[in-house]
Amino acid sequence: MRESLLDVDESFLKETFQSIGEPGYRVTQVLDWIYQKKVATFAEMTNLPIHLRDFLDKHYKIDPLTLLTYQESADGTLKFLFSLGDNEKIESVLIPMNQNLTLCISTQVGCPLDCKFCLTGVMGYTRNLTAGEILGQVLFIQRWLGPKKRISNVVFMGMGEPLANYQNTVKAIRVMLSEKGLNLSNRKITVSTSGIVPGIRKLGREDFIVNLAVSLHAPSNDLRSQLMPINRKYPLEMLLEACREYPLPKRRRITFEYVLLKGVNDRPHHARELAKILKGFRCKINLLPFNEAPELPYERPSDAEVLQFQKILIEQGYSVFIRTSRGRDILAACGQLAVRSSDTGCSGFKLRPISSATASTGFFPSKSMA
Ligand code: SF4
Repeated sequence: MRESLLDVDESFLKETFQSIGEPGYRVTQVLDWIYQKKVATFAEMTNLPIHLRDFLDKHYKIDPLTLLTYQESADGTLKFLFSLGDNEKIESVLIPMNQNLTLCISTQVGCPLDCKFCLTGVMGYTRNLTAGEILGQVLFIQRWLGPKKRISNVVFMGMGEPLANYQNTVKAIRVMLSEKGLNLSNRKITVSTSGIVPGIRKLGREDFIVNLAVSLHAPSNDLRSQLMPINRKYPLEMLLEACREYPLPKRRRITFEYVLLKGVNDRPHHARELAKILKGFRCKINLLPFNEAPELPYERPSDAEVLQFQKILIEQGYSVFIRTSRGRDILAACGQLAVRSSDTGCSGFKLRPISSATASTGFFPSKSMA
């Protein structure tokens, strides 16, 4: 199987080129074609000699993933289904908001953490994505969008727990930040974690700082351990201490995510407890009314209950946002990503090709599959 060049680093490419008698500047040219010009094939690398293009084509490929299909939600959200080299499937979600395009990417096939309100957790865990497979989602979708639209934010909130695939997540972030890579600003990248404490600490010691979002979902250990088994290993006290020590620059804030499950964690006393444990934090709180799914035993609270929860926190001085669920109709909203194997790659939740029945916002170009 040909290896993707997104999975090899610059020094490996330099050594390879040296071993076949190619000058070092060819490496710079290849990286420029991949990350700046965003070509999909070696044949398009027109300033490389033909024998080198042939060599690359024989031994390597550019994209480590293939687009199988995509769906557009009535609200303009797009869900992409990719197949990987070993036929595993992952999803990425592109969310247009005002002038911004936020891309939510996956880091694992499935997820081992088994959060009780999450469809990806129900799906189970198959394997980690390689750095190239993580990065490839951004590169592919940026190419798909064309030069006139630019992905403005990347959030690691798709399938999987990014800090449980630490090495490849960080490797992919480095290329996203690099001038020779995707040249994204560190303010535009957010890693979201369910609370892997050693991973948060390690991320804080890297030579770059990206935004951190932490899924809390409960204000007490008892309740959080029921909803998120990871809490038994890294309880709230440990998690919040690691968050306090995360070295965000002064003007930036940690985001705490809180999914609201009717009658489970959405009562006024939960809001008051939450306000108490977050005291002193430079943070914002995102409330996510639960997206119901037949496989999951929870219900969405009423709008009035959600507003009441928000009000209690605001009265305690917090910035609190109710996240409107984007892409609910195509199961692209938070906690809804779950790929089942079948011919289309998605049997439990059938992906429909874009059709006239799916209202198009006209925001995205009409494209055929790659
Ligand atoms: S919420 Fe995140 S960490 Fe928990 S099971 Fe789902 S994907 Fe995994």
